Amino acid sequence: MLHSPGHILSILQQVPDPEIPVISIVELGVIRDIQVNGSAVEVKITPTYSGCPAMKQIEDDVRAILKKEGFEEVIVKTVFDPPWTTDWIPEEAKEKLRRYGIAPPEHTTQDKSWLTGKQKTVLCPRCRSANTQLISQFGSTACKALYQCKDCLEPFDYFKCI
Ligand SMILES: [Zn+2]
Repeated sequence: MLHSPGHILSILQQVPDPEIPVISIVELGVIRDIQVNGSAVEVKITPTYSGCPAMKQIEDDVRAILKKEGFEEVIVKTVFDPPWTTDWIPEEAKEKLRRYGIAPPEHTTQDKSWLTGKQKTVLCPRCRSANTQLISQFGSTACKALYQCKDCLEPFDYFKCI
């Protein structure tokens, strides 16, 4: 059985993000490197958010699907350098997030303004209004903040990513 990293990537494309089922973990941009050696495979992943509980789930899912595909040894390594950036989410995946009602990250990981409580522009995923306000630092999960649109009044999650 011959497996290329590209083939493994296509397998991993079937694994949904545990928190946002409309995008795959590949679209989330967390897969950094894939090494294949016979029936052993090593996958490097970078967390979107340190301490994000979804990362453990992603690790387990990666291991489970590759074992199911016949790999005897599956190693999942977490790498923190270089840090994950929202630039690794392709534009199509950001569009999927918007349709799902989540404002995708518009800023890079260097932007920590949400930590200091300073307002920044987050576009409403529904009407694209910039007239939004932060309701809570924590939305449906620790990785998201809760915002509300002042135009269409829709509350929505913002993928804050750090
Ligand atoms: Zn709106």
